[in-house]
Amino acid sequence: MRVTLLGTGDTTGTPTVGCDCDTCEAARERDVERTRFSVHVENERTDESLLIDFSPDFRYQFLRDEVPLPDAAVISHIHFDHLDGLGNVFRVLDSLEVYAADETDPETGKSVAETVRDDYHYLEPLTVVPTTPLETVRICGLDVTLVPVDHPPLVCYGLAIEDPVTGAKLSITGDTSYDVPAGSRDVLAGADLLLADAIVPASLCEHHPIGGRHEDAEGTPRTFGTKHMTREGALAMAEQLDADRTRLVHLAHFYPVEEAFAEPLAVDGEVYEL
Ligand SMILES: [Zn+2]
Ligand SMILES: [Zn+2]
Ligand SMILES: [Zn+2]
Repeated sequence: MRVTLLGTGDTTGTPTVGCDCDTCEAARERDVERTRFSVHVENERTDESLLIDFSPDFRYQFLRDEVPLPDAAVISHIHFDHLDGLGNVFRVLDSLEVYAADETDPETGKSVAETVRDDYHYLEPLTVVPTTPLETVRICGLDVTLVPVDHPPLVCYGLAIEDPVTGAKLSITGDTSYDVPAGSRDVLAGADLLLADAIVPASLCEHHPIGGRHEDAEGTPRTFGTKHMTREGALAMAEQLDADRTRLVHLAHFYPVEEAFAEPLAVDGEVYEL
């Protein structure tokens, strides 16, 4: 399994347009970036590729990282930075299966699968495959399980992706607070590589209108506001999930510049062979 981190940024990315903060300037100087979230998973045994989330930066990411176009995709949730790149497949792909959860979201009255189908009904190549969370499906020769996470007010899902032949395992937390249900943690545990949402360091919680939540024993918030884990929360989650290796993703340009490019914060284009 070859994993390429196509997009490691939050919804505005780094650099953010129109921003001259030290972190955005440093990214320009170092020639690194964090575009909107997407992960490319290549199954070298079957020569197929699975895309996790459709970044609005889809076209640019595929040109930049020269990865094969996807044979199938999974949508974690309906926020702009994970879904709105889907229109890019128009006149590019002849067919595409898109897997998304089949549970009705009380907030929208529709499942993620229904929203994808409704929003992109005009895309001929698309086949939306409603998928039951916590039930494993075989996609591109890989065993994929959607797991409910906590990203209020919308439903959102993390993922475990396992190669049934080699046993290689990739886990992705999805956009989530630290309050990931126990049943989901069980599925995400024991990965060779964990990609964990770590939007900002815990020190920035004081700037959030409602602060942080899910404090650890020292009082450090593991959730920023209600929707995302802090860096400290993501690292605590990685430890609890006993991941072999962890990269922090979905990162905002609000990281202070002296922390923004430290390990284990990811940048776009990283490749992992599992
Ligand atoms: Zn900035
Ligand atoms: Zn989101
Ligand atoms: Zn997001």
